[in-house]
This record gives sequence, C-alpha cells and structure tokens, in this order.
Amino acid sequence: MAKRDYYEVLGVSKGASSDDIKKGYRRKAKELHPDRNKDDPSAEAQFKEANEAYEVLKNAEKKAAYDRYGHAAFEGGMGGGGGGRPGGGFGGNQDFSSAFSDVFDDLFGNFAGGGQRGGGNRASRGSDLRYNLQISLEEAFGGLQKTINVPTSIGCTTCNGSGAEGGSEPTSCPTCSGMGKVRAQQGFFTVERTCPTCSGLGQIIKNPCKSCQGAGRVEKDRALSVNIPAGVETGTRIRLAGEGEAGMRGGPSGDLYIFIEVAEHELFQRDGTNLFCRVPVSMAKAALGGSIEVPTIDGGRGRVQIPSGSQSGRQMRLRGKGMPALRGGSAGDMFIELAVETPVNLTSRQKELLAEFDELSENNNPESSNFFSSVKSFWDSMKG
Ligand SMILES: [Zn+2]
Ligand SMILES: [Zn+2]
Repeated sequence: MAKRDYYEVLGVSKGASSDDIKKGYRRKAKELHPDRNKDDPSAEAQFKEANEAYEVLKNAEKKAAYDRYGHAAFEGGMGGGGGGRPGGGFGGNQDFSSAFSDVFDDLFGNFAGGGQRGGGNRASRGSDLRYNLQISLEEAFGGLQKTINVPTSIGCTTCNGSGAEGGSEPTSCPTCSGMGKVRAQQGFFTVERTCPTCSGLGQIIKNPCKSCQGAGRVEKDRALSVNIPAGVETGTRIRLAGEGEAGMRGGPSGDLYIFIEVAEHELFQRDGTNLFCRVPVSMAKAALGGSIEVPTIDGGRGRVQIPSGSQSGRQMRLRGKGMPALRGGSAGDMFIELAVETPVNLTSRQKELLAEFDELSENNNPESSNFFSSVKSFWDSMKG
C-alpha cells in the first residue's frame, strides 16, 4: 500500500507553518483518538498515521529531509546516493529498507534519546548514505579500485564542527533546560515532543558559525577511493565506516554503504560463481567432433573438445573458468552449451553434397535416426 503524504494526513498544505502543522495534528489527534472511536477500527490506524506524520513534520531536520526526499528519506536514510546511476538513492527494494531499518532505528533512537541523557554533548550522528555502483561482469571478475564522488556533508572546518562562531561555546537551551524535549498538555493528554527551539539538540548557539549556519557541517562532494573485491555480485554491500554524512555539531559520522549492481553481460549468464554461455557450432563439427575456441571472462580464450555426434544443448565444462569466490574458496566453472547451427545460403556444390549425404543416410543407415525408427515402429504397431 502506498504511504499517504504526511501533509495530507494532517490535513494541511505543503507550505504550512509549524504552527499550522501543530494545529492540524491536534485536530486530527482529537478526532481520531482511540478513546473516542471505540467503534471504528480504522481510527486507530489513522491515529498512528497522524502521529507518524507529526513526528516527522514537527522536527525541522526530519521535515527538511521529508520535503526533499519524501517517504524515501526514512526508508533508507537521507540524501546521498545516486551517483552511480539515475534512480539511485533509496526505496524501491523492500529488502534493502528492511536491512537498513536497524541502522535507522539506531540513528533516530540516538536522536530521540538525547533527552534522557541530560546535559553533556548534544551532537547527533550523521546519516548513513547509500551509493549505487554499477560495474561490468569483467570488473566483478577482476575486482577494481574505483574513485567515486559522494555528495555528502563534512564537518565544518571554520568552527571545527561546533557550529559556534569564533571559539564561542554552545550553551544549554533555555526552552528545554538542555533536555531536548518539552512536555505539553494537548487537550486531554500530555505529549512529549522535541524542543522547537533547539530541535532536540539541547543546546543553542548564540553566535552561529557563518560558514555552516550553526549546523557544524557543510554540504560537499567528496571523492573516495573504494576497493571493490573480486567476486562481488548484484546486491553485495560494501560498508565504509564513518564515510557517511558528518554528524551535527561534531557528532560521529554515519557510514557509507556501496550497493553493487553487476550489469548484464552479452555473452555470459552468472549463477553464483558459475558462468554459462551458448556457443554456436557448425552441423559438421557437431557430427564429426573437434575442438572449438571460446572467449573466457578473464579476457583470454579456452578450448573445449566436442565429442562426435554432439546434439544441440549439450553442455561442456571448463573447470575453474568461472567467477572467483568473494569470501575465498575455489573459483567457479564455465559451462558451454552447444547450439548446433543448420547451414544456410548453400552453394550448389554444398547442396549437392548434402543431398548425397541425405541419400547415403537413408540407403545405408535407415535406423541411424531415432526419429525415423520411432516413426517406423509406430506404423508397424498400427498395421499389427
Ligand atoms: Zn561552522
Ligand atoms: Zn531546547
């Protein structure tokens, strides 16, 4: 089921002020509160939906992420990615988002948990970033060193990440006394919400750094050299610890996850470490036997011996000519499936020879073909 737009859920317009968002939420919360809707089973789900929408829209950081990336901001994380190919970023694949959920629970857990710690450092951890990287099968075979440009944010060098101008220190937020959260009576229930003054950080900056507007980090593209090991496949994730988005106000950086996608190859299909390909063989060679040369994934050539009388679809194997195993172990094999080709555009001499061949086949060896012998025995049985 598609998720509803958060603004729509709260019944406010996209450009709504934080006050309007708050009012919209209160209205919905009263309307949908489970205590008032005992007979309407859908009210509870809608109430939860409204709570979820408000959780995001009341928080300046989360709201900005939502405005920019939509629901995807919380499915896979915020921002980043996409450098490898269009449609990067997040969402799309359920497995990915569930794989990420623990990471992001952790992230938002830290953020929300700031209130309980009381005082101290309010820095929050930077977001994890995802980068989609498409490589060729040959690159997956050999492994590679690749420089990627990751759009992310880095710690501000002007204020050393503190967000405060000229060596001044952030001070405890007066609204929430440094707790990061405030309690408020809303109608008949009390809610605890992120402090609007400090966005839950518990600290405010009187003189924000001019380079980063007090965030302690600035947007920047970073060039990273990544080592892609041999044997990776589509879905392989490579984690670069601490290479994600910088934390707020000197908090720890998130991680960068590189998601590998190996492009389709025109000749080889892959199954784990094994490779498969179809190779055309002339009718004469399939009948007489011989050897054929086939291209291999390492850029070289391999030779396979074809037994005489080979039929189309016969599989030959080149041991050890498949893909390397990512976590050690022996390399896979390469399987070659023969595709026997019927000759076309024959010269008159070739036609003559084939006709002669056909005659010889019928006269001298009528039982040689399984097909003809089965037709013959079928007619025999009908007669009998
Ligand atoms: Zn700064
Ligand atoms: Zn505060």
